Amino acid sequence: MASITRALRPLTRAAATFPRSIRPAFSRTAPQMRCLSATAPRREIDISEIPPTPISHLSDTEAMMADSVSKFAQDVILPKVRDMDEAESMDPAVVEQLFEQGLMGIEIPEEYGGSGMNFTSAIIAIEELARVDPSVSVLCDVHNTLCNTAILKYGSEKLKKEWLPRLATNTVGSFCLSEPVSGSDAFALATKATRTENGYKINGGKMWITNSVEANFFIVFANLDPSKKYKGITAFIVEKGTPGFSIAKKEKKLGIRASSTCVINFDDVEVPKDNLLGNEFEGYKYAIGLLNEGRIGIAAQMTGLALGAFENAAGYTWNDRKQFGQLIGEFQGMQHQMAQAWTEIQAARAMVYNAARKKEAGEDFVMDAAMAKLFASQVAAKVAGSAVEWMGGMGFVREGLAEKYFRDSKIGAIYEGTSNIQLTTIARHLQKTYTK
Ligand SMILES: Cc1cc2nc3c(=O)[nH]c(=O)nc-3n(C[C@H](O)[C@H](O)[C@H](O)COP(=O)(O)OP(=O)(O)OC[C@H]3O[C@@H](n4cnc5c(N)ncnc54)[C@H](O)[C@@H]3O)c2cc1C
Repeated sequence: MASITRALRPLTRAAATFPRSIRPAFSRTAPQMRCLSATAPRREIDISEIPPTPISHLSDTEAMMADSVSKFAQDVILPKVRDMDEAESMDPAVVEQLFEQGLMGIEIPEEYGGSGMNFTSAIIAIEELARVDPSVSVLCDVHNTLCNTAILKYGSEKLKKEWLPRLATNTVGSFCLSEPVSGSDAFALATKATRTENGYKINGGKMWITNSVEANFFIVFANLDPSKKYKGITAFIVEKGTPGFSIAKKEKKLGIRASSTCVINFDDVEVPKDNLLGNEFEGYKYAIGLLNEGRIGIAAQMTGLALGAFENAAGYTWNDRKQFGQLIGEFQGMQHQMAQAWTEIQAARAMVYNAARKKEAGEDFVMDAAMAKLFASQVAAKVAGSAVEWMGGMGFVREGLAEKYFRDSKIGAIYEGTSNIQLTTIARHLQKTYTK
């Protein structure tokens, strides 16, 4: 708990004085309830006597996380959002502060220097960051839900001792699965690993890798025995600076432009035996497991984005802009659209929180995660698009953030499984259920 206090203390007091104009639309209930979402799976706790509660209820710690990250995003990130987007780069000071706030080791146990919090807390942080900047959000998301989780779930004790304290305090992580030949068909990857006397040698190339500029820690999927097809896939830890590792190209993008997305080459990259993640030939299982969880993070990024786009426009329509002698938000035609958008945002959030709680409870959450990501990315794109229109010309110019939310929203339907891939996952589950 000490590190949670450390992580949240600097902002907790200030969060109480958060501008009322921003908080009410996003008020969270922190009821007098037991925290059902401890890091330990719920099945280890007897919950039979506890009445079910609304899915939007947060534990005190989770509510504190929401307020603290919201305050941090408003005070520290918001003033930099436009410049980082124009420069297409992440301000290193923002990354440093994410570490200082304890937001880069949310689920890492305190014994390894992390914040020792639960998965839902990570989801809340990702959502709150995206409400202000989806680029900062995805940096935090990939680091926490894919990289930290990979070591926590599959890493040897040696890897945990070596990496978790660094991942919690100063080293950004990156997850390298996609390649020029393998996107949706991720396991068709062509990067190869061969055994050497001291470990392994990796050759190949990865594409569209998030965090590659900021990261020093890379989880790399390579095939150790192509004769086994996807069952040859094995996961390795590679450090930036290892001879043969190079960033070949930084992509210029439509949205989340402050988030780095690069092509990485591996040219006879030697890694020691200890850098094997888990067991040989189990990399495909790890990738599936990690991406199933990661999708809840992307869904949270999208609900945060939708909230941010809505609130940005609502501030304008209900406070600033008058036409025909009244605020434009007073026209029923506008109000109905905004009410519809709000309803859809809350529906998406309920799906995200439900998927997160099911994961924590040790229940099967794969279909819930797919549905949450699919729907949240649809809602984000729809709301961010409508918000541009609600703001008229002011929504279209780069002076404000409306157009940026709109550009950023497109990525939700693409990474960590496109919308079609989510639909395939959902349909497979349904078919299994309904096949007689
Ligand atoms: C900004 C950004 C960041 C990224 N970050 C990472 C990262 O950190 N690590 C990483 O490993 N990867 C990353 N990716 C890669 C991302 O996961 C892939 O782009 C994604 O999986 C889609 O693959 P693709 O781009 O090759 O599209 P394709 O697979 O070529 O798909 C193109 C279209 O075909 C459709 N399609 C393909 N197969 C099917 C099918 N079976 N049924 C129906 N439709 C289908 C898709 O839905 C899509 O509409 C990132 C991508 C981007 C753009």
